[in-house]
Amino acid sequence: MDVSYLIDDLNDHQRAAVSAPEQNMLVLAGAGSGKTRVLTHRIAWLMQVENIPTYSILAVTFTNKAAKEMRGRITDICPQQIGGMWIGTFHGTAHRLLRLHYQEANLPEQFQIIDSDDQKKMVKRIIKSLNLDEKYYPAKELQWYINDKKDEGLRAKHIQVGYSQQEKQRLQVYQAYEEACQLAGLVDFAELLLRAHELLLNNPSLLLHYQQRFRHVLVDEFQDTNKLQYAWLNLLTENNSYLTIVGDDDQSIYGWRGADVENIQRFLREKDNPVTVCLEQNYRSTGHILNASNQLIKNNSDRLGKELWTSGEDGQPIAIYSAFNDYDETRYVTSQLKLWQNSGKKLAECAILYRSNAQSRLFEEQLMAQQIPYHIYGGQRFFDRLEIKDSIAYLRLINNHQDDAAFERIINKPKRKIGNTTLDKIRLCAREQGYTMWQASLFLIEQKQLSAGANISLSGFIELIKRFENETSELPLFQTVDHVIRHSGLHSMFENEKGEKSRSRIENLQELVSATKSFVIPPEEQEMSEVTAFLAYAALESGDNQADEFDDAVQLMTMHAAKGLEFPQVFMVGVEEGMFPGQQSADDEVRLAEERRLCYVGMTRAMQKLTLCHAESRRLYGQEKFHSPSRFISELPEQDIEYIRLKTQVRRVQQPTVKQPAFTRENQDISGFRIGQQVTHPKFGEGTVIAQEGSGENSRLQVNFMGVGSKWLMTAYARLETV
Ligand code: ATP
Ligand code: MG
Repeated sequence: MDVSYLIDDLNDHQRAAVSAPEQNMLVLAGAGSGKTRVLTHRIAWLMQVENIPTYSILAVTFTNKAAKEMRGRITDICPQQIGGMWIGTFHGTAHRLLRLHYQEANLPEQFQIIDSDDQKKMVKRIIKSLNLDEKYYPAKELQWYINDKKDEGLRAKHIQVGYSQQEKQRLQVYQAYEEACQLAGLVDFAELLLRAHELLLNNPSLLLHYQQRFRHVLVDEFQDTNKLQYAWLNLLTENNSYLTIVGDDDQSIYGWRGADVENIQRFLREKDNPVTVCLEQNYRSTGHILNASNQLIKNNSDRLGKELWTSGEDGQPIAIYSAFNDYDETRYVTSQLKLWQNSGKKLAECAILYRSNAQSRLFEEQLMAQQIPYHIYGGQRFFDRLEIKDSIAYLRLINNHQDDAAFERIINKPKRKIGNTTLDKIRLCAREQGYTMWQASLFLIEQKQLSAGANISLSGFIELIKRFENETSELPLFQTVDHVIRHSGLHSMFENEKGEKSRSRIENLQELVSATKSFVIPPEEQEMSEVTAFLAYAALESGDNQADEFDDAVQLMTMHAAKGLEFPQVFMVGVEEGMFPGQQSADDEVRLAEERRLCYVGMTRAMQKLTLCHAESRRLYGQEKFHSPSRFISELPEQDIEYIRLKTQVRRVQQPTVKQPAFTRENQDISGFRIGQQVTHPKFGEGTVIAQEGSGENSRLQVNFMGVGSKWLMTAYARLETV
């Protein structure tokens, strides 16, 4: 078979990696150098040249989006079906293993995944049941503690504590939490990985089976693996299999979650004859973008050190836009998007990247107002919305009566006269008897330990769930969902909420029915039932699959979520001290270095055009904050950047005389104000217009307010009125 097409359009180093004999291999290289490309071509090569069967290949990456893309790229270059190949995220792959071997993993068949929100609620309940004061033992902190330990591979029984009372209590919470989850058949995200690791460790024959099956394990974005993930990979490949890892130490951005760049060194130390391939040519970005990114990351010490070059053009310098405030920032970005669109290019080629999800709101508003379609990754996922979680909790409880998290969520939703007293009794009974909430309820009802009224209400709830179970057992999933939403009373409860919110909740419920109707069990989960696969999808899916994914829309996401992706035009927004790097990172060398890597990740997503924006003032938590440009901007070489608005330009127009000639008609029409005019502002009171700058949408006014002083305001947003 002619396989030259797999290596023809690769450079020498890439080709060497793709066509290497079977071996352990590290591909270490900077952003945009073709690592992911090498990985996918390598997989195709192994199948076609080394005759490795598809089922002997396991490819792992970090996000659902990346996994999906990888599957697509491999399908494109392979003539044969790749159905048997395992391609997925770490969490997805661990989940699959646990489903296949739930007995060996000591889980009930109907075990469910809980998200971070449910986890926090569980922890809260445990804290309460142990009579600890939440002031000293905040649920969030304990949740972190538990996840941290799990990421290190440690169960409560492995942890030694000294004399510290606090340490002891924490451990007690961890232990009680473990027990409660085990009883209810619940598995959190960190548990997926820990259990999948233990599954292999504790079952030698199973381990051997998978070691023999997966002859090649390949991992993208390896720099972000944590200890446990590494241990799992290592175990899986320690018996004559090969591990190929691809990564970039400069793009390690999950240190705060326990990711450990040391894993790269560990791999080199522990694996047999690992071969390292370095790639240095960048194919993604223009010269200016690449050079500036290289310079930025040089400010970090402790790098493995590598430099990228490109044979491409320098392109346009990186634009630095200094906005007056956050509104101005969004307006500038949207105006640039319009220009891009008007020149006949696709909006989908543009991305807006921010440090935290909360920053998306203003952009959403502005994009909506300007009728620019957009697509947000992350943020509040569809499956995280209250009404969706409620509906899904019904599904979960029908599926597994012992699911405490689901039980608590819907026991009194809609209201069915089950108050806190009854709930506390159930909790207490569960704790004392070692029961789940469901079992405790049955016990209390049978023993007549509740008031007559509570007994009736609780029995009613139990009967309802059992009835649903019978009524829906033969129905396809979407009809089950529809049935449950209508007959549980959820639908009418949300309908009665009234207002805009109510409408959107009802729409979302309908959307949930459509989502279940169009749900197709993914190729790697064929062995699961429809409802199980769907519940897993609802828990693990990260908002990648919104309906408008294929529309031509601007992409909005955090810099973390943008890892591995590329876009012709990128806007990084909020590049300010106090935002990026954030306040807490500024004084901490380790965290600052991680923020800088994140900045490197963000910048290197851009192919042709990169703009960094910062705002001089922005509203945060209801307060006006003043930020200076991020230090990262000052670390970029002058020759690679271009300031869109120089501060001095602004100052030049700040003190015009009152005698200045009248505005042109055009200006006056747009701004509606003239210099010398008396105006009022809802917050600053009365003042005089003393300067005007910009035109059209970008028009700004300087107003001297009595007792407040002079302020620059965006004309369109200032809510000024003439006196
Ligand atoms: P990141 O670190 O951001 O994940 P990466 O190293 O994985 O980047 P890829 O996404 O594989 O880089 O490649 C970057 C871009 O360069 C892609 O558009 C890819 O198709 C292109 N590319 C890679 N190698 C070559 C090549 N030899 N010739 C032409 N284009 C290439
Ligand atoms: Mg990549």
